[in-house]
Amino acid sequence: MTEESAALYVVPTPLGNLADLTRRAEEILRTVPWVAAEDTRHSGPLLKQLGSQARTLPAHQHNEHEAAARIVEKLQAGEAVALISDAGTPGISDPGARVVAAVRAAGCKVVPLPGACAATTALSASGLLDEHFLFYGFLPSKGGQRRQVLEELRQQPCALVFYEAPHRVLETVADMATVFGERTLVIARELTKLFESIHSGPLTAALDWLKEDPNRQRGEFVLLVSGAPAGADDGEGERVLKLLLDEGLSTKQAAKLASAITGVAKNALYDRALALKS
Ligand code: SAM
Repeated sequence: MTEESAALYVVPTPLGNLADLTRRAEEILRTVPWVAAEDTRHSGPLLKQLGSQARTLPAHQHNEHEAAARIVEKLQAGEAVALISDAGTPGISDPGARVVAAVRAAGCKVVPLPGACAATTALSASGLLDEHFLFYGFLPSKGGQRRQVLEELRQQPCALVFYEAPHRVLETVADMATVFGERTLVIARELTKLFESIHSGPLTAALDWLKEDPNRQRGEFVLLVSGAPAGADDGEGERVLKLLLDEGLSTKQAAKLASAITGVAKNALYDRALALKS
């Protein structure tokens, strides 16, 4: 090992393109005595290809406490451990955070390596101009809970970054369109792989775009939504809108009056009223 030894190295692995493993990551994986992997069978071929002699131990979401204790033991015995997940950066919508917390709590060193991560890879090519971003990761799989989370995020003035599975992409995009209305959606699919595609367009047209070609619904997805526009409803417009709808006013009347009272754009309130009713 050329690096300091008895540390936990948090090592990102490629999302698809093996050339994305950094030289430093390669060196660590080749020289550490232990690799803690989310799935030891999945990571076996990569380690073999690197000529790594490391012994592996499983560190997945169902054994993280136990794995953390074993890793701390190794570190305290002076042995270095590399932590990897199936793809990308450990701890980012992946197991790893508990291991890192336990290692830090035990007073051992944690060394993070920069590298592949689907969220930042997608963001860098999104063309979204928001100065800030919020990484959410996976939304709840149940529709009601998912829409509630989206509602909570609706007023965030920064780009929103989500991970999604192919079998849920249509329903999630439909919910995003209902809750967020007219924003930009970037659909980043199969990043770094043969069929990589990055599509950007109005959120309200995205569902039709996805349905036009079933291939567009395949693979791994990062969904990025532009942030709430400046001067958008800070909550007051919606509060008044709801009161007026509850009083029995029509969608159109309620939007018009709420706009006159709060100064929030009438069209935005009209879309919101439709979403609330649905
Ligand atoms: N830790 C990983 C990272 O750093 O990005 C994320 C792991 S999470 C379990 C897997 C999700 O990441 C996928 O469902 C997908 O949303 C996203 N993802 C992973 N690889 C991707 C790729 N090549 N293209 C697009 N999204 C990807």
